[in-house]
Amino acid sequence: MTESSTDVDVVIVGAGFAGMYELVRMRRAGFSAVVLETADDVGGTWYWNRYPGARCDILSVDYSYSWDPELQQEWTWSERYAAQPEILRYAQFVADKHDLRRDIRFKTRVTSAQWNDETHRWTIHTDTGDDLSCRYYIMATGCLSMPKAPDIEGADRFTGEVYFTSTWPHDGVDFTGRRVAVIGTGSSAIQSIPLIAAEAEQLTVFQRTPNFSIPARNGAISDERMAAFRADPDAYREAARWSGAGVPMDTPVEGALMVSEEERTARYEAMWERSELLGITGTFNDTMSNAESNDTLRHFFHDKIRSIVGDPATAEALCPTNHYVGTKRACLDTNYYETYNLPHVRLVDLRTDPISTITETGIDTTNESFEFDAIVFATGFDAMTGAIVSVDITGRDGVTLKEKWSHGPVTYLGLMTAGFPNLFMITGPGSPSVLSNMMVSIEQHVDWIADTLDHLRKNDLDAIEPTELAETKWVEHSNAFANLGLAVTADSWYMGANVPGKPRVFLPYPGGVGRYRVTCDEVVERGYLGFTLDGPAGRTVNDGIIRPLAPDVQVMLEVMAEMGLPPIESMSVDEARTFMEMSGAMSPPGPEVGEVVDGMLPGADGAELEYRLYRPASDGPHPIVAYFHGGGWVIGSHTSDDAVCRDLCAQSDAIFVSVNYRHAPEARFPAAADDGLAAVTWIAEHAEALGGVPGQLAVAGWSAGANVAAVTAQRAKLAGGPTIVGQVLLNPVTDCDMNTGSYVDNADGYILTKGLMTWFWDHYCDPADRADPKASPLRADDLTDLPPAMIVTCEFDPLRDEGNAYAEALTRAGVPVRHLQAEGQTHTSLGAVGVIVTGAYARAEMADALRNFFGATVRT
Ligand SMILES: Cc1cc2nc3c(=O)[nH]c(=O)nc-3n(C[C@H](O)[C@H](O)[C@H](O)COP(=O)(O)OP(=O)(O)OC[C@H]3O[C@@H](n4cnc5c(N)ncnc54)[C@H](O)[C@@H]3O)c2cc1C
Repeated sequence: MTESSTDVDVVIVGAGFAGMYELVRMRRAGFSAVVLETADDVGGTWYWNRYPGARCDILSVDYSYSWDPELQQEWTWSERYAAQPEILRYAQFVADKHDLRRDIRFKTRVTSAQWNDETHRWTIHTDTGDDLSCRYYIMATGCLSMPKAPDIEGADRFTGEVYFTSTWPHDGVDFTGRRVAVIGTGSSAIQSIPLIAAEAEQLTVFQRTPNFSIPARNGAISDERMAAFRADPDAYREAARWSGAGVPMDTPVEGALMVSEEERTARYEAMWERSELLGITGTFNDTMSNAESNDTLRHFFHDKIRSIVGDPATAEALCPTNHYVGTKRACLDTNYYETYNLPHVRLVDLRTDPISTITETGIDTTNESFEFDAIVFATGFDAMTGAIVSVDITGRDGVTLKEKWSHGPVTYLGLMTAGFPNLFMITGPGSPSVLSNMMVSIEQHVDWIADTLDHLRKNDLDAIEPTELAETKWVEHSNAFANLGLAVTADSWYMGANVPGKPRVFLPYPGGVGRYRVTCDEVVERGYLGFTLDGPAGRTVNDGIIRPLAPDVQVMLEVMAEMGLPPIESMSVDEARTFMEMSGAMSPPGPEVGEVVDGMLPGADGAELEYRLYRPASDGPHPIVAYFHGGGWVIGSHTSDDAVCRDLCAQSDAIFVSVNYRHAPEARFPAAADDGLAAVTWIAEHAEALGGVPGQLAVAGWSAGANVAAVTAQRAKLAGGPTIVGQVLLNPVTDCDMNTGSYVDNADGYILTKGLMTWFWDHYCDPADRADPKASPLRADDLTDLPPAMIVTCEFDPLRDEGNAYAEALTRAGVPVRHLQAEGQTHTSLGAVGVIVTGAYARAEMADALRNFFGATVRT
């Protein structure tokens, strides 16, 4: 591409690692491409951030390109964590090797870009006055490339030397004999403070928020790591691509509270010694989701800081207390905490003594006036969106990206945004980006974009754009993932909280690099699901949602898939029952209740049935719920829904009596239904003795148990008693028709499959009997005068449609119905107490419905 070309296939903005590799891929694919770059050389982050101590905090062996096998042999890193000059040399080496500079226009800033919907091309404007026209416009502008202007009164008043870590002078700075202020204690400050202190006569650090940092222990790359890499570089890189954060690492299987305190501390010590950023929150599997677990880590850090820093007041000020470990980007340092033991270094805690103004000669805080020769601003970046929206981008119908993102960035996969066809972002918001080894995330995006452009060309298409639905649902999915963890609790730059006025949304995708790659690949495999593809031959809209399951449900299913368990319907009945018991034993126990009592009650055939009673902790008497467990009338018992019973008991403040009704195939239809009525009758008669309020009796159940509960409510009505004041039906079996839409949609997925339901029905009930309302309550002739109902159905459940149909039928019959259709949930997910956080709201609603049935006020 020549300097003067104005009409190209692709314009790439940015010549950091992303833009450089994208250029390589474009060339290889035969597209004409130009890179536009503000700086006068390649390197991006490593061109600009030349402050003392600047270095990567992901091991260099990992933080390097994988796309050039030769390069991996040619280049050897000198240290575990290479310093900025070495990383910049690496970028320059790659640029030389691949002759990249001939297609890069340096000292050229892109100022605006407009989409033309007629020509399907972008016009790109630059500050040099050159305009370019391109089909595809790729923003490789970096996540941490737009320095944040200091929001401090008087910032431009200081007449001494002013430096920004993000745009450090190329010939360095000598602080010898100077009185220096550093404002900020993020990663750049933590790296530079010890080196500035080594030169300066006096160093004063102004800290708003302390951060967590571990010693880098820089030096030669460990033999172990190098051996793993050298033994099989391809396998090593491949493992990184499918890992959680772009570095091959073992995934912890234990939570921090699952081991003894000694064991926990020993593992934290090992993490501290190992000195790898991702190891900090990778010691246990719940550090980023469980506040109590994270606290153990936080206290470990506090102890370390107190043991290093001599002055107790300074040590306390350096201990982060307002955020959990890992919820702001943690740091790697060399002698950071030790630096505060030097006599000429001082920390000013802005939380107790804020800056009132910067003066001509220094800094005034509320309590003190300081004089300085130099001020260093280490005040961070307008992360992830800053560089993108600083270009005035206008998409279809004159809409600007700034307007579209005014409430926070909205993207599909962090790669594209609706209304802006052919505009791609590398490591954009909504992708793993800054939560990962960026090199891995950059390469994945570059490859995906290059493959996509190739696909468009091969199929005679010239425009691609996400659909609104796909994009909205991706944003929801990413937010839902974020809300499962602690990261959203911090005022971090991940949340946009460091920039005044910036909308507070979690910017990166928190689901992990490997999972994200699977998702992007699947989008392609499914014919670019969620995209509109356009070309001379016409337009294809492949609308859809790539990840419709709630994120924790998806993770649970992935874990189960990895375990490779056989389907239940392939087991014998005994095996299936043992399997159910084992999975129950592995599940979290559910909340504490006041008391759990086991007892016996008479079943329909006179034989005794076991029951387990869960009593709330509050003073009784309490209303009673007769509860029927799930398990397809075949498996499970009065204890198998233990966690659900505990949870609903605690939340509804009602006694739960879980009944071990008879099971098929030993006792086929209508044994379970008959036992339901017998149990409810007995419970009503013994309400007082059980600690209940006579007349305050509801039924509840899950799946086949909800079938028993619904049938029992019908039969109690027909029998004239006992009085049932309400029914709570979670994913009920209400009909024997297995050809509904939800059976078709969910035939093979999500644990309860059509095959398993067939297995259950076959064991329970002859086909000839299945239309009986005692088996299919939806088929009852008269649904009037039944107790009010709360019916919960789940989007990904074969039983969804029959549950919905029952809710509608009851409503038509005049029965008050509260109907919750749980999006993104499966047949089993709402019962996974303590595992599926996104399902907790449904159980809260069920408990609320019970309290309403009983007319009770909430007990506190
Ligand atoms: C100090 C520091 C240390 C880091 N350490 C690590 C680490 O250890 N591991 C890790 O994974 N990540 C790290 N990162 C993140 C780092 O930004 C990425 O790893 C990676 O370098 C990003 O590459 P990029 O090409 O996407 O963006 P950048 O390197 O940021 O390059 C973007 C380029 O786009 C140019 N540009 C932007 N807007 C325009 C415009 N309008 N017109 C023309 N040019 C424009 C910029 O000048 C810049 O050169 C660090 C970041 C910083 C700031």
